[in-house]
Amino acid sequence: MTVLRIILGDQLSADISALEGLDPGSDIVLMMEVMEETVYVAHHKQKIVLVLAAMRHFADDLRQRGVLVDYVALDAPENTGSLTTEIQRAVARHRPQRLVVTEPGEWRVDAMASNWQSLTGLPVEIRKDGRFFASRARFADWARGRQVWRMEYFYRELRREHAILMDHGQPAGGAWNFDALNRKRLPAHTSTPERLRFAPDAVTRAVMALVEQRFSGNFGSLDAFGWPVTRHDALLALNDFIAAGLPRFGDYQDAMKTGAPFLFHALLAPALNLGLLSPREVCDAAEAAWRSGSAPLNAVEGFVRQILGWREYVHGFYWFVMPGYEDCNAMQAMRSLPAFYWTGETPMRCLREAVASTVRYAYSHHIQRLMVTGNFALLAGIAPREIERWYLAVYADAYEWVEMPNTLGMAVFADGGQMASKPYAASGAYIDRMSDFCSGCRYDVKQKTGPDACPFNYLYWAFLIRQKDRLAKNPRLAMPYRTLAGWTAERQAATLAEADGFLDEIEVWR
Ligand SMILES: Cc1cc2nc3c(=O)[nH]c(=O)nc-3n(C[C@H](O)[C@H](O)[C@H](O)COP(=O)(O)OP(=O)(O)OC[C@H]3O[C@@H](n4cnc5c(N)ncnc54)[C@H](O)[C@@H]3O)c2cc1C
Ligand code: SF4
Repeated sequence: MTVLRIILGDQLSADISALEGLDPGSDIVLMMEVMEETVYVAHHKQKIVLVLAAMRHFADDLRQRGVLVDYVALDAPENTGSLTTEIQRAVARHRPQRLVVTEPGEWRVDAMASNWQSLTGLPVEIRKDGRFFASRARFADWARGRQVWRMEYFYRELRREHAILMDHGQPAGGAWNFDALNRKRLPAHTSTPERLRFAPDAVTRAVMALVEQRFSGNFGSLDAFGWPVTRHDALLALNDFIAAGLPRFGDYQDAMKTGAPFLFHALLAPALNLGLLSPREVCDAAEAAWRSGSAPLNAVEGFVRQILGWREYVHGFYWFVMPGYEDCNAMQAMRSLPAFYWTGETPMRCLREAVASTVRYAYSHHIQRLMVTGNFALLAGIAPREIERWYLAVYADAYEWVEMPNTLGMAVFADGGQMASKPYAASGAYIDRMSDFCSGCRYDVKQKTGPDACPFNYLYWAFLIRQKDRLAKNPRLAMPYRTLAGWTAERQAATLAEADGFLDEIEVWR
């Protein structure tokens, strides 16, 4: 009896549930490169290369283990370009008795999968994805009984349940959180480690040529492509982070530096999200580094909090609030995405830096995403769906389940507080404190108004004035609203006018 086992592009884990019970003598693994998945947003070229190259390597690994793989390449002449029609064609080729697939990671593909049974006329078993600490149902059980959902409490439960950084039932080091020790500014002249990057092999180079040919107009450059595309290289990248990045990850987690986009960050999200690494092994490696004395607890807890905390939380959250969440717009933001998000053509140095590393590496780190490009989108009132599609398009690690809650919930507060307890709105002072960008900027971060003032300064106050009815009661914003209460009506009107004038001006930056 032939079972057709479908492996999707972000399911590249040897222990994925769709492969459980595989009979190499009769079963066939189907993998498909389809146009539909490469164009639902206009991905950065590196994202397309990453996924296709990793799929091709994964298929080779399966074949070496004696598994029969039916691989449909993007440029195969008969490729119909859609997952559903490729599955129908594969059914006609192999005449299997049934289909097995692991639940897709994005709602869009999940909706497609629910039709495969009726379209093929065969039983389709959709198996749970066991690659997260918490299943979708686990999050839903936790969320259902609560009025507010906060990552911190979910995270603590998962720490206990999975015995990560726990000693005798208590959090290691006697505290759940060491954030007070983290988030330092990077002292000038601090050296940052050279990070391990991977030269493309012949398989990856062939995909690069294909992408340059078929997606020449897409955003981004392939020149600096260096992401791991195999399990072997992903493990090397993990080891590199544990040795070179982790010890100072906590201290400088929020720091930004000109020309240094990676700093002490993990650079592991692309491999994790494809399934080349498991979140469990990544957390275990970090904990082992602390227990052996090679990394301090504030760094290791800070890192585990990102994986076991944020990553699991946004995953559960996405599946709990979809569909419907994609249309939220609690701040009634309507402005179109400014062209500089694609071109980097802006005199604002912090934004220029963030876009430059995005073009070159399909990467910018969390604080650049949240407090530079995200903060600007929030303050400028950019339509949530436009900025959300941008984040989904431009990063190598972007998948809707992780990107959408981070963008709509965290960066632009479009859900009105379902995910975060307050908008991450900040003036230029925050960027100045955490980076060296301002010293080389055309604007002056110390000036609050006038043609040379840092635009983040007046945009911040204009945002609070505009959103007063929605936000003034938020206890976490009590301080700025107390300050605003002391402003005259004229001063508030002048601030709004200055912000509007600036926002009109950026339309012509090209
Ligand atoms: C607007 C916005 C969009 C984002 N889009 C994505 C996305 O599409 N894909 C993605 O993986 N992450 C996304 N993030 C989260 C985070 O910025 C990236 O995971 C991180 O920058 C990846 O780089 P790194 O591997 O060096 O991570 P590090 O900063 O070193 O963190 C370690 C790991 O923790 C996890 N992590 C950290 N923060 C988060 C978070 N907020 N949510 C989920 N996981 C987290 C990632 O797996 C990451 O690899 C987004 C954040 C924001 C603010
Ligand atoms: S002065 Fe303002 S715009 Fe310029 S880098 Fe600093 S925060 Fe960014």
